[in-house]
Amino acid sequence: MRSLIHATLLAGAVLLTLGVAQAEGDEGWHLVSIGAREYVPIEDLCRFYRLVAAEPLLGEIHLSGSAGTVEGKQGSPYVFIDGVRHALSFPLLERDRQWYVSRTDLSCLFDPIFRPSRVPVRLSFRGVVIDPGHGGEDKGARSRNGRYEKDYALDTARRLGTILRSHGLSIVFTRTSDVFVPLEERVRIARAYPDYVFVSLHYNQSEPSGHGVETYCLAPRGAPSSNNGTWVRRVDYLPLPGNGNDLLNTLLAHEIHLQLVRLRPDDPEMDRGFRRARFVVLRDNPLPGVLVEGGFLSDPVDSSWIDRSEYRQRLAEAVARGLGRFFQATNLRASASRAFSTKRGTDFP
Ligand SMILES: [Zn+2]
Repeated sequence: MRSLIHATLLAGAVLLTLGVAQAEGDEGWHLVSIGAREYVPIEDLCRFYRLVAAEPLLGEIHLSGSAGTVEGKQGSPYVFIDGVRHALSFPLLERDRQWYVSRTDLSCLFDPIFRPSRVPVRLSFRGVVIDPGHGGEDKGARSRNGRYEKDYALDTARRLGTILRSHGLSIVFTRTSDVFVPLEERVRIARAYPDYVFVSLHYNQSEPSGHGVETYCLAPRGAPSSNNGTWVRRVDYLPLPGNGNDLLNTLLAHEIHLQLVRLRPDDPEMDRGFRRARFVVLRDNPLPGVLVEGGFLSDPVDSSWIDRSEYRQRLAEAVARGLGRFFQATNLRASASRAFSTKRGTDFP
């Protein structure tokens, strides 16, 4: 552990990040250096968010309170927040029967999710840039029946646009036909709409095939991408335009992923997680952004779902619901929030 003075200074920095003042007599946060990283005892997280820890099982932790529930395992790259899988930037650690969460996850994962009303917002968002992945000669993933991701993505984007417009939001598409649009051009389009949020729609493939949905937002500075394990590369420390929205990115991806995992509630493997990445359309984007992978075209079950228009419609509705909750949580654009909260029975079951 660092010296008390140093720890106090750093704890002040965490408190600053969390946007709270340290009250007289408040026990505050205790920063601990483990390896090359800074961690905070889970006790502090429980005290701050009023969570109660269940009697710990070997290598597992269960927290619950009015803010939500957290289930984690020593060394796991994921925690389950309210039963939904979320990638950590760094695994939880257990040392001498004391559990720790990384400072990065405290400020960039748990805080925006547990205290969405405290996420700083610079302006009122009034629209959505919808980005259908791929297009033209860039066909994307190929389904088992020979159809392509670029076509499914465009169809889903149109459905999402229709739903959002019906709720009074302004919409811009990065493409509306089967054309190739470079990633940099998609970001350039986003830059022209500073009071929008950005949603990129994709379908997945892998060998061997995965199964289920993933929701990506930009990795915080100094944290690895979820698909790179815990290995932090030198480039992961570079400041990126999208990191200016780290907290909004987390909140947006969390709300959308919460809705997506409910698409097939009877399928426990549907939830592949809220994840982190440095995709160009998230990395260089000045807008709060998210990239949705709506299932695996390389998987026979997912592929047959994705091929059904009803599934793509329900997926678009799920993304729209997540967006609606994001707009509500950030308390932005009163008319949009009202539309989402009062209109019932049509697109928002
Ligand atoms: Zn794709």
